[in-house]
Amino acid sequence: MLRVAVVGSGPSGVYAAQELVAQDLVPGVQVHVLDRLPCPYGLVRYGVAPDHEKIKSLQNTLRAVLEHERISFVGNVEVGRHGLAPDTLLRLYHAVVYCVGAARDRRLGIPGEDLPGSHSATDFVAWYSAHPDASGDAFALSARSAVVIGVGNVAVDVARILARGADELRPTDVPEDALGALALSRVRDVHMIGRRGPSQAKFTTKELRELGALPSADVLVSPADLALDPAYASREVAAALPGPARRNLDVVRGWADGTADHGRDRRIHARFFLRPVELLADGGRVGAVRFERTAPDGTGGVRGTGEYEDIEAQLVLRAVGYRGVPLDGLPFDARPGTVPHTAGRVLRDGEPSPGEYVAGWIKRGPTGVIGTNRPCAKETVASLLADADALAARTVADDPLAELRSSGHRPVLWSGWESIMAAESALGLALGRRSVKIPDWAGLLAAAHG
Ligand code: NAP
Repeated sequence: MLRVAVVGSGPSGVYAAQELVAQDLVPGVQVHVLDRLPCPYGLVRYGVAPDHEKIKSLQNTLRAVLEHERISFVGNVEVGRHGLAPDTLLRLYHAVVYCVGAARDRRLGIPGEDLPGSHSATDFVAWYSAHPDASGDAFALSARSAVVIGVGNVAVDVARILARGADELRPTDVPEDALGALALSRVRDVHMIGRRGPSQAKFTTKELRELGALPSADVLVSPADLALDPAYASREVAAALPGPARRNLDVVRGWADGTADHGRDRRIHARFFLRPVELLADGGRVGAVRFERTAPDGTGGVRGTGEYEDIEAQLVLRAVGYRGVPLDGLPFDARPGTVPHTAGRVLRDGEPSPGEYVAGWIKRGPTGVIGTNRPCAKETVASLLADADALAARTVADDPLAELRSSGHRPVLWSGWESIMAAESALGLALGRRSVKIPDWAGLLAAAHG
């Protein structure tokens, strides 16, 4: 018998659980997939944009894993400062795999960043994804002009949601309050701004192309911005780019000739070579963002030129990447925001800590698409299975769930999650929509515990 806790039920956690039971390498393995939330799937439920139905449908694959006879979902159990300590978990399980992701946003570190009206894109995503920790009504959708800082896939997601009409989102599982707020949104101009050029942007081509296919928004790019990119100016330089960067550049090039301007009601302005230096206040709230024009430095980076441009914005979303947060009782390397490890084995003072493993963003940093988590989890589980004999010899509790309950936890098991799904379907039916997410803790727990 080998009892393993996987902490986190996002893609990396579920893939780790799947690997643990795959091929019956350890016939007696039992896996508990713990989550702080009463709902599984991590960023697939609370990060993938609601209009990305195909990626959302990955939940069906993850669901099949969590329904495996040797795997149990154990939600509503927090690990860390306000919950179970890692050393407690090691008394309950032979091994623990931390798949806790990268929960926070990176900061810009510039004046005005915390002005009202300026938010991390992570908070905006949490709001329209009905995350129960999201604060409801803080977003200034009365804004005419919004600035999204960053040109990664999160920036593309939030720019697209701002540019879509509420009618386009009604068929999705967006919570009712967010849908109502988006229906009243007055945002007409969304400026998505990169500090480097289009050939260095982090978004993927499929996501970028989607912006150009929105029914109620045009995508506009400034030829003056593009001209600064050596790969835009020279076909030879472009030909030497990696495929994804070349394809991104082709998409942007297609928008630059003016044919993408159909005079639609909303506009997404894709801007480049502008570095944010300050958020400017207007009446106690953000009113504009000051950018310094940059230019390529010849090594893939940029340098400031001393020229500045202010872009009006009553709403600013900072989409400059996620960062991992330390989990009390686990080692943490603050610079990359990850847990130190070797092939997934957690290192304490440079030595593998028996029974402790990591996978996903907390192991390798917040990069890659969902599928990247599969080989990452596989490597970690290979390490764990290689250690299986020593792990099975550790003395642990007979019944971890009973221990959790006796120490005051109220776990939400799979049946509780099924009750949440049923309540969300009923809510959707009552609203004349498909399944609609419950956006608050009280509602989720009431549904889960009946
Ligand atoms: P990201 O891909 O790392 O992009 C961050 C962006 O912020 C980059 O454009 C970066 O520019 C910029 N940035 C960073 N610091 C900045 C600063 N101080 N000032 C101005 N700009 C700054 O991060 P992300 O968009 O949060 O995405 C995280 C991961 O999730 C990625 O792997 C992404 O592909 C994935 N994701 C995928 C999807 C999807 O597949 N549909 C959706 C959402 C997220 P530099 O390049 O110059 O640093």
